[in-house]
Amino acid sequence: MRKLFIAGNWKMNTDAKSASALALGLAKALDASVYKAVDVAVCPPFVYLQDVANALAGSKISLGAQNVYFEDNGAFTGETSCAMLKDLCCEYVILGHSERRHVLGETDALINKKMHKALASGLKPIFAVGELLAQRESNETDKVVKTQIEKGLAGITAEQMKDVTIAYEPVWAIGTGKTATPEQAQEVHAAIRALILKMYNKNIADAVRIQYGGSAKPSNAAELLGKQDVDGLLVGGASLKVEDFAGIIKAGV
Ligand code: PEP
Repeated sequence: MRKLFIAGNWKMNTDAKSASALALGLAKALDASVYKAVDVAVCPPFVYLQDVANALAGSKISLGAQNVYFEDNGAFTGETSCAMLKDLCCEYVILGHSERRHVLGETDALINKKMHKALASGLKPIFAVGELLAQRESNETDKVVKTQIEKGLAGITAEQMKDVTIAYEPVWAIGTGKTATPEQAQEVHAAIRALILKMYNKNIADAVRIQYGGSAKPSNAAELLGKQDVDGLLVGGASLKVEDFAGIIKAGV
């Protein structure tokens, strides 16, 4: 039985005051019964990780980062290492997000290096994959997602897979208000699980959590989470409002 995992990706939003207020507000809005059913994490911008870590102290909400670099240290201006994230109490890191792939130009090979470094450092990757609208319309979804998964997870062992969450995020649904139907999500999630079975084994395939991401909101969360292979949500826009994100999380209880 897989426990639900719902994470908020704040992207390049909030400021020092509102980041702390959002974290505190969320911690107050969720009671103990929630955490029995759902693991919860928030991924603020790097510069507010410490503020948010302070605000979340004593709560059961985990902290995640939105990116990381694969080198330990050195002349990599503007980059952040896994050790730095660990210093700030990060448990998770989002890797392969569509905005990193399509806006910032990250390749499968780079994402794979980051996956290896994150796992070796004790960070748990939320590994995001998903197709563009044109790829869905030309029936390439399975092929695109398969390639992203095979390349992104190349060399990752079965033991390491215990710390990996996969996020299926159709790019056409991210930040657009257009959500995949629960059936569309389930179809791809089932294909991902079948692929993980082929790449690893039944234990790993049964245990790996696959989040859906793409315009999740309180009004569609329960239906999405009701699907057999949807084990949680990665939430962008709606994670920036306490009421909306708490509503989404409570849909999983
Ligand atoms: C995301 O950025 O991972 C995401 C799913 O965004 P949104 O919920 O805003 O579509």
